[in-house]
Amino acid sequence: HASMATRDEQRQHPLPLHILFLPFFAPGHLIPVVDMAAIFSARGARCTILTTPVNADIIRPAVDRANDSDCHGTDSPSPAVDIFVVPFPDVGLPPGMENLMFLTPAHGAECPLKFIQAVQLLREPFDRFMAANRPDAVVSDSFFSWSADAAAEHGVPRLVFLGSSVFARCCSETMLRTNPLETTTNPDDDPDDDARLVSLPGLPHRVQLRRSQMMDPRKRPAMWAFHKDNDAADQRSFGEVLNSFHELEPDYVEHFRTTLGRRAWLVGPVALASKDMAKRGRPDNTEAHVTEGCLRWMDRKPAGSVVYVSFGTFTSFSPAELRELARGLDLSGKDFVWVISSGTGTDGSEWMPEGFAELMARGDRGFIIRGWAPQTLILNHHALGGFMTHCGWNSALEAVSAGVPMVTWPRYADQFYNEKLIVEVLKVGVSIGAKDFASPLEGHEVIGGEVIAGSIGRLMGSGEEGDAVRKKAKDLSVKARSAMEKGGSSYGDFGRLMDELMARRSPGEDTTPLILQK
Ligand code: UDP
Repeated sequence: HASMATRDEQRQHPLPLHILFLPFFAPGHLIPVVDMAAIFSARGARCTILTTPVNADIIRPAVDRANDSDCHGTDSPSPAVDIFVVPFPDVGLPPGMENLMFLTPAHGAECPLKFIQAVQLLREPFDRFMAANRPDAVVSDSFFSWSADAAAEHGVPRLVFLGSSVFARCCSETMLRTNPLETTTNPDDDPDDDARLVSLPGLPHRVQLRRSQMMDPRKRPAMWAFHKDNDAADQRSFGEVLNSFHELEPDYVEHFRTTLGRRAWLVGPVALASKDMAKRGRPDNTEAHVTEGCLRWMDRKPAGSVVYVSFGTFTSFSPAELRELARGLDLSGKDFVWVISSGTGTDGSEWMPEGFAELMARGDRGFIIRGWAPQTLILNHHALGGFMTHCGWNSALEAVSAGVPMVTWPRYADQFYNEKLIVEVLKVGVSIGAKDFASPLEGHEVIGGEVIAGSIGRLMGSGEEGDAVRKKAKDLSVKARSAMEKGGSSYGDFGRLMDELMARRSPGEDTTPLILQK
C-alpha cells in the first residue's frame, strides 16, 4: 500500500526530469553545455555534468551562477546543476592537461589523438553513474560515439550535442554521405587542384568551397573515420539539441529535419540563457583586472568604433601571421581589442612589426589581452563595431546575439562552413579570404596586412556593404533575443523536448526506484 500511495503521489507530482550531460574537453563544447544545463534547470530539470577535475574547475563559476536562482528570474528555486567529477583517464598526457585549450604546437601532433583515447575511457564512470542514477536523458557530445550504445543499454535516450550551426551540420552530413572531393563535374578538372571549387550537393543554397578549405579524407583518414563513427552514432540517437534558433537558419532546420530525417530541437542562443550575460558577462576565470581594464578602455571610445580580434580557444598563429595581423590592425586605422591566446606569440620580438610596440605604448589605438578575454562583455559593449573571428560557432552566435557584424577568418573544423553561413546566407560578415583548412598544430598561409586592413575597412567603413551587414546584424540580434523569450521558438522547442522526455516515463517504470524502496 505504501508503495501504491507513493506511485499515485508521483503521478500527480512527478519528480523533476534528470538530465546527464557529457561534454567534450574543450571550452567551445563545455561552455554551451553549462549554459544549456542552466536553462534545463530554470525550466525545472535536475542536471548533472560529468567531467574531470580540471574541467570541473573551469566550469564551476558558471555552474555556481546557474544555481543562483536570482539569475533565472523565477520565484521558485530551480533544481540544482551538479558536477559529477571523475578522474581524467591516464592516456599519457601530462598531469592537468585535461582540456584541448592547453595544447600548443610544442606538445606534438599526436596529443589531440590522446584526447580522443581519453574520450573512449570515460565509459566506465559513465556506466557507474547510469547504473546508480538512471537519468531521464543523456545529452552527449557527438565526440562520445560510444555513449549511443551505452545509453541504449541503460534504456535511456541519448541526445546529441556538438555546438555547431545547423548549416554546418547539414554541410558535414553531405560531405560524409557523398564526399564530393572525389568527383569532378568537368572531366578536364584536376580533382586534386587546391583551387578547384567543390559544390556540396542537395543543400537549400548553392554552397561551394575551395578544395583547400575542406577536410580531405585522403589526407586525414583518422579524422574522417572519427567523424563517420560519430555520425553513425548520432543517427542511432534519440535526437539532437542545437545551439541555434529557427529564425536564423530556417531552410537548414527544414533540411536537417525533413531531408536528413533528424529529430532536432533548437534551443539557442544558449548564451542568452541568463538575462544579465550581456551586462555581467559570463562567469568564468577571466582575471578581474583584465575585464576592468578592457571595459574602461572601451568606455572612452565612440559607439561602433572598435574591432575585437579573437580566434577562440584552440587556434594558434605563427610569428609571420601575427606580424601581418599587427600590421593590418595598424593600417586599418581602427581601434582594436586583440586577444592573443596564451602560448602563442608571447615573445613580441619574434613578430612585432616596426613601430607596433610604440603604437601600443601610446595606449589609445589598441588593447591587447593575453590569455582569457571577457568575450560576451566585449561583444555587448556599445563601442564595438566589428568582430574578427575564426567562426567558431559559439563566437559567431554570440556576435549574432549582440548584433555585431564579423570579419571571418576560418581555420579548421566547421569554421569554413560557418563562414559560408555568416557571409553568404546571413550576410552579416565580410570574408578575409582564408584558403587553407589546417589544425592549430599545423601551418597556415600568411595573409597580408593590407588584406586584413581592407576587410576591416569594408566591414566598418561607411560604404554600402558595411551599412548592409550592420543593419542585418542588428535585425538578427533582435530575433535571437525573441527566440529565447517566453513564446519564442527556442523557448518552445525546449518545452516540447522536456514534455517529450517526461512522456517517455512509462507509468509503472520509473526513474525513482530509490523512493519506492523506502
Ligand atoms: N571565449 C572567451 N574568452 C576568450 C576566448 C574564448 O570567453 O578569450 C569563449 C567564447 O565566448 C566562446 C568560446 O570561448 O563561447 C569559444 O568557442 P568557439 O566555438 O567560438 O571557438 P573554439 O574555441 O571552440 O574554436
